[in-house]
Amino acid sequence: MSDFSRTQLDSIFAQSVAGRCTTSHWPDAGLNEDEQELDDLPATALRSQPPLLPELSELQVVRHFTRLSQRNYAIDSHFYPLGSCTMKYNPRICHTLAMLPGFLNRHPLLPDRLGQGVLSCLHELQQMLCYLTGMAGFSLAPMAGAQGEFAGVAMIRAYHRARGDLDRCEMIIPSAAHGTNPATASLCGFGVREIPVTADGDVDLDALRAAVGPKTAGLMLTNPSTLGVFERRVEEIAAIVHQAGGLLYYDGANLNAIVGRVRPGDMGFDAVHVNTHKTFATPHGGGGPGAGPIGVNDRLLPFLPLPLVGQDAAGGYRLLDETDRPQSMGRVTAFTGNIGVLLRAYVYLRLLAMPGLQRVSTYATLNANYLMERLRQAGFQLAYPQRRATHEFIVTLQPEARQFGVTALHVAKRLLDYGCYAPTIYFPSLVPECLLIEPTETENREELDRFAAVLSVIRQEAISDPERVRTAPHHTPVQRLDETRAARQPDLVWRAPTH
Ligand SMILES: *Cc1c(COP(=O)(O)O)cnc(C)c1O
Repeated sequence: MSDFSRTQLDSIFAQSVAGRCTTSHWPDAGLNEDEQELDDLPATALRSQPPLLPELSELQVVRHFTRLSQRNYAIDSHFYPLGSCTMKYNPRICHTLAMLPGFLNRHPLLPDRLGQGVLSCLHELQQMLCYLTGMAGFSLAPMAGAQGEFAGVAMIRAYHRARGDLDRCEMIIPSAAHGTNPATASLCGFGVREIPVTADGDVDLDALRAAVGPKTAGLMLTNPSTLGVFERRVEEIAAIVHQAGGLLYYDGANLNAIVGRVRPGDMGFDAVHVNTHKTFATPHGGGGPGAGPIGVNDRLLPFLPLPLVGQDAAGGYRLLDETDRPQSMGRVTAFTGNIGVLLRAYVYLRLLAMPGLQRVSTYATLNANYLMERLRQAGFQLAYPQRRATHEFIVTLQPEARQFGVTALHVAKRLLDYGCYAPTIYFPSLVPECLLIEPTETENREELDRFAAVLSVIRQEAISDPERVRTAPHHTPVQRLDETRAARQPDLVWRAPTH
């Protein structure tokens, strides 16, 4: 490494020069007004030493953080087929309009009459989500998919209790479910009754029939399932659960394959949450922010979490509270939910309308099926080779792991060397050595071809030079990380530089 190596610039502290500040190009630079204001504070509240912070110009700070941001993978720079996260391009206009100053600067305690604009957008969003899912009412309050699930299952509990039906203590969940489903059920006090799926990915109906009974509170189902296939006998499933006195919960975290085409309400579901931060103009991977609105049919309507946006006879909007909805399950958020994310979803839905949304599901499924066929041709083993892909599909690398000792993790790391973000790996846990691949509708054919070609090259490498794949990545700023330690024991404590 030369003396001019970039790594010298990696630490913002190494660049620090005493006395340099970000405001040196301002006209009043050098006037220490702040320090005079500190005279009013009692001595006990003042530091004796200034904080040890790096001292840099504004330009240095901008360059430092821009450089760091470019080391990451993002939708704006790389193909990002992270299954179950719908990392598609979200039109900038959705963000721009959601960030209009009138929205951004509105105080959450502003009286309803001064916020008619934002309330009308949220009211319309409630209605559009009802229309898309076949539900009778929607609450926008939950701030994540998991929180929407919690609200939905809490309402199912409230429904049985309100009817004096107190023995219903079990939630049935297929083994293909997302981990949040059993977690939600137990958080709400239900026992989890797991049922298997068949070899071709559908719920095992015999097992379902054997599992339902007077203890059944309901069933939680994801359709398309996390196996990337559409449950073909969903109406039969709904009939079995309803006949046993249970309700059906639809995990609608991923609507990309069905939006504008099939409605959970028509499949027989009583409650559904959607992740606006997957399908509706906010990406999921990366950790938030999100919004997980929860919708219900007439049965569960009185229990919806507050606040809801209501409209009076004269057309005015207002937030409904406990006096309007005495049976409400309560509140899951301090105010009205994550409005910035909800407004993005609102703009996206207004922008696309039904024809646009149908194009989303058409191309999301076309792209997934196209890529799946390309990978089949390249010699990869599909987890469900007889099934059509939905918005995503699964490749299993079990043959490569057995023959060449190259696992899903190795291939995922090697993909980074070729400028592709990796698909989801080791989820769903039912399929060993799996890659869950979701290309999304916003990628073009050349990008899909390129990804298929890269995976083929890596497969050839696994045969001819497996060590090269096993030790990847080779071209990223950092190589293998201890991911468990980084997540469980993150070292976020800043220490003074020792020079
Ligand atoms: C993403 C996802 C969830 C959870 O959503 P969060 O917003 O991350 O809480 C639940 N179920 C399925 C099937 C998902 O893909």
